[in-house]
This record gives sequence, structure tokens and C-alpha cells, in this order.
Amino acid sequence: MSEQRVVVVTGASRGIGRAIAVQMAAPDTHVIVNYNSSPEAANETVSLARGRGGAATAMGFDVADPEAVKVAFDQIVETHGRIDVLVNNAGIAKDNLLALMKPAEWDVVMATNLKGAFLCSQAVVRPMMRRRFGRIVNVTSVVAATGNPGQCNYSAAKAGIIGLTKSLAREIVSRKITVNAVAPGYIETDMTAALPAKAREALLAQIPAGRPGAPEEVAAAVAFLASDAAGYITGQVIHVNGGMFMA
Ligand code: NAP
Repeated sequence: MSEQRVVVVTGASRGIGRAIAVQMAAPDTHVIVNYNSSPEAANETVSLARGRGGAATAMGFDVADPEAVKVAFDQIVETHGRIDVLVNNAGIAKDNLLALMKPAEWDVVMATNLKGAFLCSQAVVRPMMRRRFGRIVNVTSVVAATGNPGQCNYSAAKAGIIGLTKSLAREIVSRKITVNAVAPGYIETDMTAALPAKAREALLAQIPAGRPGAPEEVAAAVAFLASDAAGYITGQVIHVNGGMFMA
């Protein structure tokens, strides 16, 4: 078994996932940088993680594809013998008003954002139970709590993530595995850059901190929940949103 802590971050080629992968990188850690369609960007994340003195490997698979997820996690366990941390970060948005939303727009968001977290969590639970240690951190969103027009699919998937987090936390806490969620507010990434200027202004106006968040500010909360120090915290949702919503 590898002596290094093994951390898997899904959707780590860009944005929040990249910041998480880099933040978690350390000399005693091997970070697996998952991506779906951006291998070059994933390789940049790998370089940044290695720059912090740790090992890192890019691994392409679609989190919504059960067979691809199984093959990938089997390979990680075979190579390293352990998975210490899983961060379910991969996510997409396909915004539309409900009246206009196509079933395909609903399905693809559910598949990536919710089923992906289910599949990857299922893949790590047994290896973590065998070692009586594990940390699962799921990336949800402020809109799971507040709702957002145009995001019925996205907010439903992100609210589903919270239910998954709490139920799985109860199932496996006795094996010393914690399951928590981090709910970012408005964070500057490719995802939010795609919003129309008016929608961005409206979001900014709702943030008491008066500015959008940085991916590194989300990564800091994820890294804490993934740390040994957070062993008594499970089933929780930590909001990282500059005061945009207070639970
Ligand atoms: P982003 O910049 O658009 O990056 C999305 C990441 O997810 C990319 O690395 C992408 O990989 C990956 N991904 C997408 N579909 C995938 C799939 N089927 N399988 C594997 N990886 C996949 O988004 P972001 O803003 O960093 O968001 C990261 C997470 O935070 C998401 O879950 C998002 O919902 C959540 N979030 C973001 C905000 C925000 O304000 N930005 C707020 C709340 C929550 P490829 O590039 O390889 O396709």
C-alpha cells in the first residue's frame, strides 16, 4: 500500500476543482486530478500540484458513466491500495426557465451533478471502510438552499447532494468516515463567466462582502473538512459565500 495519502478530486481540470487539487497537494499526498473533456487543463493542474512537492496524476473519466467510474476507481485502488479523500466537485449548469427546459437539460445536469457524486462515493466506500478511515466532501451550491430562477435542474441536483451527504454520513460514521458538503456562493470561474452581465450584477448585489469569492476560498473549506482535524464533523454543509446566504 502506498505510504502517501491518496486524494481524488473530480472535475479538477479548472476552477474550484483545480484550486482544491492544488490546495490538497503536499509531499505526503498523491492527488488524482479527474477531468472529462480538458486533458491539457488537467495536466496544468497536475503541474501546479507537483509544484507543491506532492505527487499528482491526471485521470480522465465521465463521473456520470458507471462503467468508466468503476474502471477508474478500481485502477486507483489497485495502484495505490488506498483512497483517503474523495472530493465530488465535478459539475455543470444547463440553465433554462422550467417552462422551456428540455428533458435532456434536466437529465444531463442530474447525471453529472448528482448521479456522479453517487457513483464516485459508492466506488470509495468499500476501500475506505476496509481502512476504517475516509473523508468525502461534496460540492453543492448556495442555490440548493435559496433556489434560483433558471436553475431548477441545477438547484434540485445540488439539493440532492445535501440529502446524499447527510444519509451517507449516517451510514458510515461508525467506520470513521466523514461525509460533508461545501456550498459555494458566487465564485469566479468559467461557470460564472458564462453568465450574462446582468445576472452577474444581480448576484453581486446579494453579497454582503461586496465581491465574488475565489476558488481558493472554497478549497480552504474543503481542505479543512478533509483533514484529520475534522474527524468529528459529519453530515454538515459549510457555506462559503461572503454572507450571501446564512443558514
Ligand atoms: P467549471 O469551471 O465549469 O469547471 C467544471 C469542472 O467539472 C471541470 O473541471 C470539468 O472538466 C468538470 N466536469 C464537468 N463535467 C464532468 C464530468 N461529466 N465528469 C468529470 N468532470 C466533469 O466549474 P466551477 O465553477 O469550478 O464549479 C465546480 C463545482 O462547484 C461544480 O460542482 C459547481 O456546480 C460548483 N459550484 C460553483 C459555483 C461558482 O460560482 N462557480 C457556485 C456554487 C457551486 P472538463 O473541463 O475536463 O470538462
